Amino acid sequence: MRIIPISKIDAKAICGTLTQTSKMPCKSISLPTESCVTGFRMAQIEGSICHSCYANKGFYRTYETAIKPAQFARLDAVMQATENPENASLWVSGMVSLIGQDKYFRWHDSGDLQGLSHLELIASVCHSYTEDNAFDKTISNVIK
Ligand code: SF4
Repeated sequence: MRIIPISKIDAKAICGTLTQTSKMPCKSISLPTESCVTGFRMAQIEGSICHSCYANKGFYRTYETAIKPAQFARLDAVMQATENPENASLWVSGMVSLIGQDKYFRWHDSGDLQGLSHLELIASVCHSYTEDNAFDKTISNVIK
């Protein structure tokens, strides 16, 4: 996929803002747990990992009035990106701009994959870094 040079301001308008958690030394992206395809169903099952989901507690719960709208805006951007190649190219380019020169990036401190086309978008972001060997981004947290 061709990466279009996009300013960080425009990238935020396309993708939404990134997040920063204390657990990892890097920026991340956060989606609403309500959109977790399997996780939202698993959350109804006592004892499952999603039943005690960290992204529904603590900081996320305390500041949910600010956090949830931003998460749903990011989800909206992801869903639009899965709709057609033009939107996909804009989202991937926007994420590349937002991640920038950072050595690490965490996919989904909250929320999860929406499907195969979402995974393909993430893979395109990662691939953009391996193409010119400028950085070694990890994809290990794509699938939780
Ligand atoms: S964020 Fe992760 S742990 Fe939480 S409900 Fe979604 S899939 Fe489950």
